[in-house]
Amino acid sequence: MQRFEYRQVRMGVETRLVVYAPDEARAVAACRAAYHRISELEAKMSDYRPDSELRLLCQRAVNRWVRVSRELFYVLWRAQKLAAQTAGAFDITLGPLVLLWREARRTQQLPDEATLNEAKARVGWQKMELSLRRRAARLAIADMRLDLGGIAKGYACDEALRTLKRFGIRRALVQMGGDLVTGEPPPEQPGWRIEVPGLDGQVQTLWLCRRALATSGSTEQYVEIGGKRYAHLIDPRTGLGLTRLTLARVQAPDGITADSLATAACIMGAEGIDQLQRLYPHATIEVQTRD
Ligand code: ADP
Ligand code: MG
Repeated sequence: MQRFEYRQVRMGVETRLVVYAPDEARAVAACRAAYHRISELEAKMSDYRPDSELRLLCQRAVNRWVRVSRELFYVLWRAQKLAAQTAGAFDITLGPLVLLWREARRTQQLPDEATLNEAKARVGWQKMELSLRRRAARLAIADMRLDLGGIAKGYACDEALRTLKRFGIRRALVQMGGDLVTGEPPPEQPGWRIEVPGLDGQVQTLWLCRRALATSGSTEQYVEIGGKRYAHLIDPRTGLGLTRLTLARVQAPDGITADSLATAACIMGAEGIDQLQRLYPHATIEVQTRD
């Protein structure tokens, strides 16, 4: 078994595949298929591409059921479940507010109150309905905007790992930015050795196998206005980016769970973690916040 490693940009982040394969041809074929799978998901779930299935859904599903692909339906379903469980702290209908945040980052100005309220009126997880029977979604009002930035990368990691498995490759690691999933460990190793900056600043070593790890926080992507930092994590209550310093780390059996819980944990803060932890007993949720 030989180790092979590849890096390509997918969904806006560096996407790393590390695999053990008997020869290079096998590694290349499997990894090519895995990247292709991620690209397929990106075409469905991207918020940046006007022709993504997600963007088209926002246009077409106003007051009527629109059937969606299996993959998108699963992600929407998981997102809505988490929204209900967190009383809307995790909310993929925040798209209009994410757009305002991006504008604030560009102009270095916060939106005025009227603009903010107008956007907030188009937000709310209860405004999206899902029908399992029809495998369809329906939106209550026009101009809603869905954003899967807090959940899609974790799912894409899961799907990439599954693709590698179909090619007979089980000893694999998939990483997309702050989201990572692992399959079987490298030969003769107890797991994949992962170094993560600890929540206290120290580097910590983890050994993972058949497990996912997600990191989310306010420390990397933010805009600073009037001496305050507004992170790309949006607090649905204020409609603005989180201003407190927060870092969440979640281990879970799969990437979609780890990714979405990490985003949710940042919004909920340390106070909400016990409740989330009880709902997801197979996950390990850590969060640190500072005002
Ligand atoms: P990243 O790896 O990009 O930092 P995260 O998993 O931390 O991703 O999620 C951040 C992204 O999630 C934001 O860029 C935005 O698209 C989306 N998001 C922001 N706030 C929320 C929220 N309260 N609920 C769900 N998704 C959110
Ligand atoms: Mg996330």
